[in-house]
Amino acid sequence: MKGSLLYEGKAKRVYHTTDESEQLILSYKDDATAFNGEKKSEFAGKGRLNNLITSKVFQYLHQHNITTHFIEALNETEQLVRRTTIIPLEVVVRNQAAGSITRRLGIQEKTGFTPPIIELFYKKDELNDPLINDVHAYHLTDITEQELTFIKQEALEINQTLQQLFLKAGLTLVDFKLEFGRLADGSIVLSDEVSPDTCRLWDRNTGEKLDKDVFREGTGNLIDTYENILHRLEESVCVK
Ligand code: C5P
Repeated sequence: MKGSLLYEGKAKRVYHTTDESEQLILSYKDDATAFNGEKKSEFAGKGRLNNLITSKVFQYLHQHNITTHFIEALNETEQLVRRTTIIPLEVVVRNQAAGSITRRLGIQEKTGFTPPIIELFYKKDELNDPLINDVHAYHLTDITEQELTFIKQEALEINQTLQQLFLKAGLTLVDFKLEFGRLADGSIVLSDEVSPDTCRLWDRNTGEKLDKDVFREGTGNLIDTYENILHRLEESVCVK
Protein backbone atom coordinates (compact mmCIF):
# COMPACT_ATOMS: atom_id res chain seq x y z
CA MET A 1 0.00 0.00 0.00
CA LYS A 2 1.09 3.55 -0.72
CA GLY A 3 2.76 5.24 2.23
CA SER A 4 4.07 8.76 2.75
CA LEU A 5 5.61 10.98 0.08
CA LEU A 6 9.39 10.56 0.01
CA TYR A 7 10.30 12.93 -2.81
CA GLU A 8 8.69 14.98 -5.55
CA GLY A 9 10.57 15.56 -8.80
CA LYS A 10 9.62 17.36 -12.01
CA ALA A 11 7.94 14.34 -13.60
CA LYS A 12 7.23 11.91 -10.76
CA ARG A 13 6.36 11.59 -7.09
CA VAL A 14 8.06 8.88 -5.05
CA TYR A 15 6.18 7.22 -2.18
CA HIS A 16 7.14 4.74 0.52
CA THR A 17 5.21 1.49 0.63
CA THR A 18 3.64 0.65 3.98
CA ASP A 19 4.56 -3.03 3.89
CA GLU A 20 8.02 -3.24 2.28
CA SER A 21 10.84 -0.84 3.20
CA GLU A 22 12.94 -1.82 0.16
CA GLN A 23 10.18 -0.99 -2.34
CA LEU A 24 8.88 2.36 -3.52
CA ILE A 25 5.95 3.54 -5.62
CA LEU A 26 6.62 5.94 -8.49
CA SER A 27 3.64 8.05 -9.48
CA TYR A 28 3.98 9.68 -12.90
CA LYS A 29 2.76 13.28 -13.14
CA ASP A 30 1.12 15.07 -16.06
CA ASP A 31 3.67 17.93 -15.82
CA ALA A 32 6.12 18.58 -18.63
CA THR A 33 9.23 20.67 -18.16
CA ALA A 34 12.10 21.55 -20.48
CA PHE A 35 15.29 23.58 -20.32
CA ASN A 36 15.76 22.76 -16.62
CA GLY A 37 12.24 23.83 -15.69
CA GLU A 38 12.23 27.12 -17.64
CA LYS A 39 9.43 25.88 -19.92
CA LYS A 40 6.54 24.25 -18.07
CA SER A 41 3.14 22.87 -18.94
CA GLU A 42 0.66 20.19 -17.97
CA PHE A 43 -0.78 17.58 -20.33
CA ALA A 44 -3.67 15.45 -19.10
CA GLY A 45 -2.72 11.81 -19.67
CA LYS A 46 1.04 12.28 -19.94
CA GLY A 47 1.71 10.48 -16.63
CA ARG A 48 -0.27 7.46 -17.77
CA LEU A 49 1.59 7.30 -21.08
CA ASN A 50 5.07 7.55 -19.54
CA ASN A 51 4.20 4.99 -16.88
CA LEU A 52 2.94 2.50 -19.47
CA ILE A 53 5.79 3.15 -21.93
CA THR A 54 8.49 2.89 -19.24
CA SER A 55 6.88 -0.32 -17.92
CA LYS A 56 7.02 -1.90 -21.38
CA VAL A 57 10.61 -0.81 -21.93
CA PHE A 58 11.78 -2.14 -18.56
CA GLN A 59 9.97 -5.45 -19.13
CA TYR A 60 11.75 -5.73 -22.48
CA LEU A 61 15.10 -5.00 -20.81
CA HIS A 62 14.42 -7.72 -18.21
CA GLN A 63 13.68 -10.19 -21.02
CA HIS A 64 17.14 -9.32 -22.35
CA ASN A 65 18.86 -9.90 -19.01
CA ILE A 66 19.31 -6.26 -18.04
CA THR A 67 18.55 -5.62 -14.38
CA THR A 68 16.49 -2.56 -13.45
CA HIS A 69 14.67 -1.24 -10.40
CA PHE A 70 11.27 -1.98 -12.02
CA ILE A 71 8.98 -4.57 -10.38
CA GLU A 72 5.52 -4.00 -11.91
CA ALA A 73 3.01 -1.44 -13.06
CA LEU A 74 0.40 -1.08 -10.32
CA ASN A 75 -2.15 0.90 -12.29
CA GLU A 76 -2.27 3.40 -15.16
CA THR A 77 -0.01 6.00 -13.53
CA GLU A 78 1.97 4.16 -10.86
CA GLN A 79 4.65 1.51 -10.71
CA LEU A 80 6.30 -0.49 -7.97
CA VAL A 81 10.10 -0.37 -7.97
CA ARG A 82 12.97 -1.58 -5.85
CA ARG A 83 14.28 1.15 -3.58
CA THR A 84 17.53 2.66 -4.82
CA THR A 85 19.60 5.66 -3.91
CA ILE A 86 20.00 7.56 -7.15
CA ILE A 87 23.57 8.34 -8.19
CA PRO A 88 23.45 12.01 -9.26
CA LEU A 89 24.65 11.38 -12.80
CA GLU A 90 22.75 11.67 -16.08
CA VAL A 91 24.29 9.15 -18.44
CA VAL A 92 23.50 10.21 -22.00
CA VAL A 93 24.10 7.86 -24.94
CA ARG A 94 24.09 9.34 -28.45
CA ASN A 95 23.80 7.39 -31.71
CA GLN A 96 23.25 10.52 -33.78
CA ALA A 97 23.76 14.21 -33.13
CA ALA A 98 20.75 16.14 -31.85
CA GLY A 99 20.00 18.59 -29.06
CA SER A 100 22.73 19.95 -26.82
CA ILE A 101 25.69 18.33 -28.60
CA THR A 102 24.82 20.17 -31.84
CA ARG A 103 24.91 23.50 -30.00
CA ARG A 104 27.87 22.73 -27.73
CA LEU A 105 30.21 21.29 -30.34
CA GLY A 106 28.73 22.61 -33.60
CA ILE A 107 28.07 19.09 -34.89
CA GLN A 108 25.38 18.94 -37.55
CA GLU A 109 22.11 17.27 -36.55
CA LYS A 110 21.83 13.62 -37.72
CA THR A 111 25.62 13.09 -37.81
CA GLY A 112 26.09 9.42 -36.85
CA PHE A 113 28.35 8.29 -34.00
CA THR A 114 30.09 4.92 -34.22
CA PRO A 115 30.82 3.97 -31.54
CA PRO A 116 28.02 5.79 -29.72
CA ILE A 117 29.09 8.75 -27.59
CA ILE A 118 28.53 8.52 -23.85
CA GLU A 119 28.35 11.80 -21.93
CA LEU A 120 28.05 12.34 -18.18
CA PHE A 121 26.13 15.23 -16.70
CA TYR A 122 26.09 16.11 -12.99
CA LYS A 123 22.48 16.00 -11.82
CA LYS A 124 22.22 19.31 -10.01
CA ASP A 125 19.45 21.76 -10.95
CA GLU A 126 21.19 24.76 -9.33
CA LEU A 127 24.16 24.22 -11.67
CA ASN A 128 22.00 23.44 -14.73
CA ASP A 129 23.19 19.81 -14.90
CA PRO A 130 26.71 20.51 -16.25
CA LEU A 131 28.66 18.16 -18.53
CA ILE A 132 31.42 16.49 -16.49
CA ASN A 133 34.22 13.98 -17.03
CA ASP A 134 34.94 10.71 -15.24
CA VAL A 135 37.25 12.21 -12.63
CA HIS A 136 34.65 14.86 -11.81
CA ALA A 137 32.20 11.99 -11.28
CA TYR A 138 34.51 10.29 -8.75
CA HIS A 139 34.73 13.56 -6.80
CA LEU A 140 31.07 14.51 -7.02
CA THR A 141 29.48 11.09 -6.35
CA ASP A 142 30.35 7.95 -4.42
CA ILE A 143 31.04 5.79 -7.48
CA THR A 144 34.36 4.06 -8.02
CA GLU A 145 36.30 3.80 -11.28
CA GLN A 146 35.20 0.17 -11.59
CA GLU A 147 31.56 1.10 -11.06
CA LEU A 148 31.71 3.83 -13.70
CA THR A 149 33.17 1.31 -16.15
CA PHE A 150 30.24 -0.98 -15.33
CA ILE A 151 27.72 1.86 -15.79
CA LYS A 152 29.15 2.71 -19.22
CA GLN A 153 29.16 -0.94 -20.34
CA GLU A 154 25.60 -1.30 -19.12
CA ALA A 155 24.58 1.92 -20.93
CA LEU A 156 26.01 0.56 -24.22
CA GLU A 157 24.25 -2.76 -23.74
CA ILE A 158 20.98 -0.98 -22.97
CA ASN A 159 21.54 1.10 -26.11
CA GLN A 160 21.85 -2.02 -28.27
CA THR A 161 18.78 -3.60 -26.72
CA LEU A 162 16.68 -0.45 -27.01
CA GLN A 163 17.79 0.13 -30.60
CA GLN A 164 16.36 -3.31 -31.45
CA LEU A 165 13.17 -2.61 -29.51
CA PHE A 166 12.51 0.71 -31.21
CA LEU A 167 13.53 -0.63 -34.62
CA LYS A 168 10.64 -3.11 -34.36
CA ALA A 169 8.39 -0.12 -33.67
CA GLY A 170 9.65 1.74 -36.77
CA LEU A 171 11.67 4.20 -34.71
CA THR A 172 15.30 5.31 -34.63
CA LEU A 173 16.77 5.72 -31.16
CA VAL A 174 18.76 8.93 -31.60
CA ASP A 175 19.84 9.47 -27.99
CA PHE A 176 18.63 8.96 -24.43
CA LYS A 177 19.40 9.63 -20.78
CA LEU A 178 19.75 7.01 -18.08
CA GLU A 179 19.96 7.23 -14.31
CA PHE A 180 21.42 4.50 -12.14
CA GLY A 181 20.75 3.83 -8.47
CA ARG A 182 22.20 1.74 -5.67
CA LEU A 183 20.23 -1.04 -4.01
CA ALA A 184 20.55 -1.72 -0.27
CA ASP A 185 23.37 -4.22 -0.97
CA GLY A 186 25.37 -1.52 -2.81
CA SER A 187 24.88 -2.97 -6.29
CA ILE A 188 24.02 -0.59 -9.12
CA VAL A 189 20.94 -0.97 -11.34
CA LEU A 190 19.15 1.08 -13.97
CA SER A 191 16.55 3.28 -12.27
CA ASP A 192 14.26 6.21 -13.10
CA GLU A 193 12.38 6.00 -16.42
CA VAL A 194 12.87 5.36 -20.13
CA SER A 195 10.19 7.23 -22.05
CA PRO A 196 9.75 9.85 -24.80
CA ASP A 197 10.63 12.37 -22.05
CA THR A 198 14.12 10.87 -21.82
CA CYS A 199 14.76 9.53 -25.36
CA ARG A 200 14.86 11.08 -28.81
CA LEU A 201 12.85 8.87 -31.16
CA TRP A 202 12.52 9.61 -34.87
CA ASP A 203 10.20 7.86 -37.31
CA ARG A 204 12.41 5.62 -39.47
CA ASN A 205 10.63 6.51 -42.68
CA THR A 206 9.67 10.16 -42.34
CA GLY A 207 12.25 11.35 -39.78
CA GLU A 208 9.40 12.91 -37.77
CA LYS A 209 10.40 13.68 -34.16
CA LEU A 210 8.22 11.61 -31.83
CA ASP A 211 9.43 12.62 -28.36
CA LYS A 212 9.64 15.54 -25.94
CA ASP A 213 11.22 17.72 -28.65
CA VAL A 214 7.63 18.37 -29.87
CA PHE A 215 7.14 20.19 -26.54
CA ARG A 216 10.64 21.70 -26.35
CA GLU A 217 10.38 23.07 -29.89
CA GLY A 218 6.60 23.62 -29.87
CA THR A 219 6.18 21.62 -33.06
CA GLY A 220 3.43 19.12 -32.23
CA ASN A 221 0.90 17.62 -29.85
CA LEU A 222 2.70 15.87 -26.98
CA ILE A 223 -0.15 13.53 -26.01
CA ASP A 224 -0.79 12.38 -29.61
CA THR A 225 2.94 11.80 -30.01
CA TYR A 226 3.32 9.75 -26.81
CA GLU A 227 0.11 7.78 -27.64
CA ASN A 228 1.72 6.96 -30.99
CA ILE A 229 4.83 5.60 -29.24
CA LEU A 230 2.80 3.48 -26.80
CA HIS A 231 0.64 2.15 -29.62
CA ARG A 232 3.70 1.18 -31.69
CA LEU A 233 5.27 -0.62 -28.73
CA GLU A 234 2.03 -2.48 -28.02
CA GLU A 235 1.69 -3.49 -31.68
CA SER A 236 5.24 -4.56 -32.31
CA VAL A 237 6.67 -5.77 -29.05
CA CYS A 238 5.65 -8.93 -27.34
CA VAL A 239 6.00 -8.09 -23.67
CA LYS A 240 3.41 -9.33 -21.22
O1 C5P B 1 19.53 17.96 -24.15
P1 C5P B 1 20.43 16.86 -24.65
O2 C5P B 1 20.57 16.86 -26.13
O3 C5P B 1 21.74 16.81 -23.95
O4 C5P B 1 19.65 15.50 -24.28
C1 C5P B 1 20.16 14.24 -24.64
C2 C5P B 1 19.11 13.18 -24.30
O5 C5P B 1 18.93 13.09 -22.89
C3 C5P B 1 17.72 13.49 -24.87
O6 C5P B 1 17.10 12.28 -25.26
C4 C5P B 1 16.98 14.12 -23.71
O7 C5P B 1 15.59 13.87 -23.78
C5 C5P B 1 17.59 13.40 -22.52
N1 C5P B 1 17.66 14.24 -21.32
C6 C5P B 1 16.83 13.95 -20.23
N2 C5P B 1 16.89 14.72 -19.10
C7 C5P B 1 17.75 15.73 -19.00
C8 C5P B 1 18.60 16.05 -20.09
C9 C5P B 1 18.53 15.28 -21.23
O8 C5P B 1 16.05 13.00 -20.28
N3 C5P B 1 17.80 16.45 -17.87
